[in-house]
Amino acid sequence: MDQSTVLIPEYKAHYGTLANYVDGRWLQSSSSRSLIVDNPATGQEIATVPLSGAGEVDQAVRAAERAFGEWRRVPPQERVQHLYKLKTLIEQRFEDLARVVTQEHGKTLDEARGSVQRGVDHLEVAAGMPSLMMGYNLEDGAGRGIDEEMIRQPLGVFACIAPFNFPMMVPFWFWPYAVAAGNTYIVKPSEQVPIGQNLLFELIGEAGFPAGVMNLVNGDREVVEALLTHPTVRGVSFVGSTKVARIVYETSAKHGKRVQAQGGAKNHLVVMPDALIEKAVGNWINSMFGCAGERCLAGATLVCVGDEAHQKTREAFLAAASPLTVGYGLDERVDVGAVISRAAQERIHCYIEKGLAEGAELVLDGRNPEIITPGCGGGFFVGPTIFDKVTPDMTIAQEEIFGPVACIMQVENLDQALEIIARSPFGNAASIYTQDGWTARRFKYEADAGNIGINVGVPAAMAYFPFAGRKDSFFGDLHGQGRDAIDFFTDKKVVVNRWIWDGKAAGTWS
Ligand code: NAD
Repeated sequence: MDQSTVLIPEYKAHYGTLANYVDGRWLQSSSSRSLIVDNPATGQEIATVPLSGAGEVDQAVRAAERAFGEWRRVPPQERVQHLYKLKTLIEQRFEDLARVVTQEHGKTLDEARGSVQRGVDHLEVAAGMPSLMMGYNLEDGAGRGIDEEMIRQPLGVFACIAPFNFPMMVPFWFWPYAVAAGNTYIVKPSEQVPIGQNLLFELIGEAGFPAGVMNLVNGDREVVEALLTHPTVRGVSFVGSTKVARIVYETSAKHGKRVQAQGGAKNHLVVMPDALIEKAVGNWINSMFGCAGERCLAGATLVCVGDEAHQKTREAFLAAASPLTVGYGLDERVDVGAVISRAAQERIHCYIEKGLAEGAELVLDGRNPEIITPGCGGGFFVGPTIFDKVTPDMTIAQEEIFGPVACIMQVENLDQALEIIARSPFGNAASIYTQDGWTARRFKYEADAGNIGINVGVPAAMAYFPFAGRKDSFFGDLHGQGRDAIDFFTDKKVVVNRWIWDGKAAGTWS
């Protein structure tokens, strides 16, 4: 059979009822609540996920707390051996993991592969923990014969709450650093895409982490609330919508926890008159329609400076977007996969209607796309959609659509483009396309966003750099990944050492 039209991967058609992984064991949830997980490309049911309760969260937290006592004493060099082992296991199952992401999320297989690889990157960086978590010291730092040192210590139980759009990757932004530093951990996947984490935890089990170090609790808001209010949880990393990020930030802070909460986005791509449009257009297509626009770093609006840049941008972008194919992400011919759910599809359609009602020009309509993969009639698809003549006051220019809908705006100069970025409530990313170093430098300096692209449409920080947005895109201080992760997952302790022997202070030998 032609692989491109296989609708359900041959190795597993249905994942059954998923379980939680607590204290090194798979436990069926005792909750009476559950949710059906659909394959968004076919609409077929592929799993049932339990919506666990507060009691199950408590069980996981207690297991993690018990494990912490011994895990923090395991030397860092030994702790990271489990990350190496897991990396090898992931490499052996790489294709399966990617296919599961495509099946449960809808993105193309190539995009899914990329997201798994991005996860592995974090194992590699966190494996450097023996060096990364070193403290520092200063002889005679506190006076003659009195040395001072700073050591980093793990804190205890941490948790992450993940969004639907990167089922495998997002938890990797956090837990490898937390666990390598000596903490123990609980992952709460999005209930919309829980299968990938289940498969990953099978590998985590094989990697030999001691029981209770890594735990998985499936569920929805009830699990989140239990984690945020549990007195033993020391810190929480959240990624999701701005509305929930704000709740998570406030509730965690109220309960005395460390918290970093990444929210939504609305990212601008500024096209200067000197931009190499023919070189940039592929970049825009990937930024705006890759992962069906369900990416927090996705470009949402092309802000063209001047009439000529606008005309050329519109022409080139429309020409490149029109032939994109839509269908099942496992079909290698497909450029744009499904969106996550019927509700998401309807929400995106509503935004398209709103754009029309508010006077934008719909130059490419993705509401009724041709689906090239057979058997996907029940799937949730939106094709690439482009609006021109968008103005900053329109709803489609202001709100996060989180689908393959691109806006084009025209402004007179860079000042106006920067003003639009400054006025956006979000500040996740912003990019500029130019050949001029001075202009690029000014943009880098002034654009109010946490991630800046210069001729780059998805300015995603690599694992060894910190990642977060600004304004309503991020609530917290320490960013995810990079060196910030070391600060977030460790506590600094300062020791002042003064030794006296035989009546003499250290350093006075005679
Ligand atoms: P979401 O906020 O609906 O859900 C995220 C998580 O929060 C899920 O695990 C969910 O179970 C939980 N949750 C949902 N409602 C809750 C509530 N009322 N109380 C407590 N917990 C709740 O987000 P989503 O739809 O899964 O993900 C898409 C959003 O995530 C987009 O806004 C996107 O921009 C954002 N995102 C941001 C980043 C970033 O780095 N800034 C990265 C990826 C996604």
